Amino acid sequence: MNTLVRGRYVLTMNERFGADGIVQDGAVLVSDENIVEVGKYKDLKAQHPTATIIGSPRYWVMPGFVNAHQHGRGMTSFQLGGLDEPLELSRIKTTPQAQVPPYLDTLYAALRMIEAGVTTCLHYNSSRGPAQYESDIRERLRAYQQAGIRVSFGLDIRDRSHMVYGDEDFVATLPPDLQERARQRMMQPRTANAEDYFRLAGMLSHEYGNNPEGRIKIFLTPAGPQWCSEDLLRAIRRLSEERGLGIQIHVLETKYQRAYFSRAYGKSAVEWLDELGFLAPRVSLAHGVWLSERDAGIIARTGSAVVHNPSSNLRLKSGIAPLALLHNARIPLALGLDSSTLNDDMDMLQEMRLSANLQRTPGVAAATVPLKDIFRMGTANGSTVLGWGEVSGSLEPGKQADMILLDSRPLSSFYLSNGQNPIDALLYRGRASSVDTVMVNGEILYQGKKHLRLNAQDISKQLKKSIQPAARNAGDPIEAELLPYAVRYYQAWDDEPLTPHYIVNSI
Ligand SMILES: [Zn+2]
Repeated sequence: MNTLVRGRYVLTMNERFGADGIVQDGAVLVSDENIVEVGKYKDLKAQHPTATIIGSPRYWVMPGFVNAHQHGRGMTSFQLGGLDEPLELSRIKTTPQAQVPPYLDTLYAALRMIEAGVTTCLHYNSSRGPAQYESDIRERLRAYQQAGIRVSFGLDIRDRSHMVYGDEDFVATLPPDLQERARQRMMQPRTANAEDYFRLAGMLSHEYGNNPEGRIKIFLTPAGPQWCSEDLLRAIRRLSEERGLGIQIHVLETKYQRAYFSRAYGKSAVEWLDELGFLAPRVSLAHGVWLSERDAGIIARTGSAVVHNPSSNLRLKSGIAPLALLHNARIPLALGLDSSTLNDDMDMLQEMRLSANLQRTPGVAAATVPLKDIFRMGTANGSTVLGWGEVSGSLEPGKQADMILLDSRPLSSFYLSNGQNPIDALLYRGRASSVDTVMVNGEILYQGKKHLRLNAQDISKQLKKSIQPAARNAGDPIEAELLPYAVRYYQAWDDEPLTPHYIVNSI
């Protein structure tokens, strides 16, 4: 069956179709799951008069958005009771949050991503503990299969304490009566152990590697260099090589992670990972807020990518990642929502806009990242970083049809100068609420703002019924005892000498 998807502009992401890859009054011919031709609508219509037509000059056609870092949550942490605490403190005293079943939660996340035009995401699993580890993962995978969205599903693991960086150094700052209890609490496992992890990773990569629909890939997502041992990271890297699996890892999200590596190892986390032989083209680093120029050089040399999460970095007081520096170093860059955006929603266009504006520091010569490159981060680059570059991320013959239609009225009404580049207009004025139609692998998942594959009402109703509010006194009382010591412990690291990437306002 042939379908012609047409729009006022088709943003192909391939320069051979025109300046910035844009075709005006264009169309994409889709046959089953594949893109067969891209060109002017009137030419394609003449050649394929019987093709079903989707869209009109009211719409803009573009590749689906790629959310390259996400923890798979439909309900946000804020909705469930979480607060935007700095990462280090949230590890110690987790505000009790309402519980939702993983299957429904992920299904709801997929609903919300589809509505926002996200056709591919990286799900960085967040384990509740070893007991539910495998069953939660299988439930979430089942939800993605049901939803039809493309996913690189990351299996999480950590084998060092999740609570503080430098366990024994922290314990030494505690009063004697708290030390042993703190030690025990800190060593409680949060994920599967390495043996179970590798067994499951082997099994799932085999199962999903042969998935006939092919919309799920297994990724390995160790929590972060400060939470994983050298042996574990080496073993992950080996498995990734053997099975061709992608890796994503949180790196230098906060200033304390930077300070920890310089104190504990006398080098940066990136140098440490490089010496382990961990960095490679199929590895992406999430956040990278505290990367140095030297780190950027190492990442560029190894071909690893960085996934930028600007909203989350602002909300958790992590900082602003040096995007222009990473862009100038020619590091592949992608964009993630990290389940924590400024609007507490899934709006990739807003995230692109934030990425652009955060770079606009005072000064006529201050470097900025071009808007078309930011748009590429949220589409084609994301696809490549998540291992789907061969099949999606751009609109060109031979690719599978992952694309969206945006109602252009909010972009161009009631007047938009002809001189404005459509990609600029999209980044300045676009919102997820303009997404009208979403296609993944040639299948229409959402059209006229209605879900065709999932029953949105039913899922929301079931989810609402299944929420278990947090118990008032949930959480371990020892964590409240440890909190003031943690504040003091990290505060002592604040005197680490720093060189600012940005001076936003300084007198
Ligand atoms: Zn994350």
